[in-house]
Amino acid sequence: MDRQVPAVAGGPQFRQMTIVGVGLIGGSLALAAKGAGVVGSVIGVTRSAASREVALARGLVDRTTDNLAAGVAGADLVVLAVPVHEIVRLLPDVARHVGPNCLVTDVGSVKGPILMAGDAAYPDGRFVAGHPIAGKEQSGAAAARADLYRGANWILTPSARTRPEALGRVGALCGAAGANVLHMDAAWHDEVFATVSHLPHLVAFALMDTVLATERGVERLRFSAGGLRDFTRVAGSDPDMWRDIFLMNRGPMLKALAEYQQALERLAAAIQDGDGEALTDRLLRARSAREELLHRS
Ligand code: NAP
Repeated sequence: MDRQVPAVAGGPQFRQMTIVGVGLIGGSLALAAKGAGVVGSVIGVTRSAASREVALARGLVDRTTDNLAAGVAGADLVVLAVPVHEIVRLLPDVARHVGPNCLVTDVGSVKGPILMAGDAAYPDGRFVAGHPIAGKEQSGAAAARADLYRGANWILTPSARTRPEALGRVGALCGAAGANVLHMDAAWHDEVFATVSHLPHLVAFALMDTVLATERGVERLRFSAGGLRDFTRVAGSDPDMWRDIFLMNRGPMLKALAEYQQALERLAAAIQDGDGEALTDRLLRARSAREELLHRS
């Protein structure tokens, strides 16, 4: 059962927060946490000089470094905000360079493999796996926004190992950034997000690719209007980031794809058979599900 966690009020909760990967998600957390006054200093570990410059110029962080060990030294919270495979790779590296009381969290869009790697790297339960349900197609430090998490859900997926105090403190930070904090089982998270997030992204990429691959595809695209544009908005997202998510969430992703293929086959069969009633049935059901979705949000 997913659990809504009440927000915790209060002053600075972390003396030094180090964000590894100052892009859209990491940079927005830095801005929100600084704005809410819940962190003392914010250090950004950046890879490229371009990100470093933007992060400093926009005041996302107080200081940057491209050296992981130097960046996490002295931190009482490290946030891994890099692509999902990189999070798994960095978890044990960070563990080698932080003090015993430093908490570690992440923002990756897939949770099962990251939670497993985090529990292995921090057997004392200091790792808290997380996923903010907020984003946009733009990426990088230039796209970071202080209000990105306002009103958004931020899912934390604790394991039996996760220390309640660590879970509470990380949850309080997410709440201070403006998010509603929810706790969820990691395997269930990956199944749910395969269906409601990862599949729609894959389908949007696939649809653009399908149109392009048709005879005179480029010419056809010139005639497209709002339908194709609205439907494929998320195909403007970073391909490398999504490749990593699709590959890391392999099992749930393949299951969601198989279910989608079956749905397409049912529609194809109704068209083939000229079965208007079956077609209307499916379309009506889909439309009312969408209306319900919009009504709720
Ligand atoms: P982003 O804007 O591209 O930022 C990623 C950051 O990670 C950049 O600062 C980049 O540094 C750094 N980075 C990229 N590849 C790296 C690598 N191989 N090694 C080390 N650093 C690397 O991406 P984002 O949207 O913030 O996504 C970051 C994480 O948040 C991902 O795990 C994603 O699954 C998760 N997430 C994304 C969304 C979303 O909608 N975008 C929503 C929720 C969660 P340089 O710029 O210096 O190269």
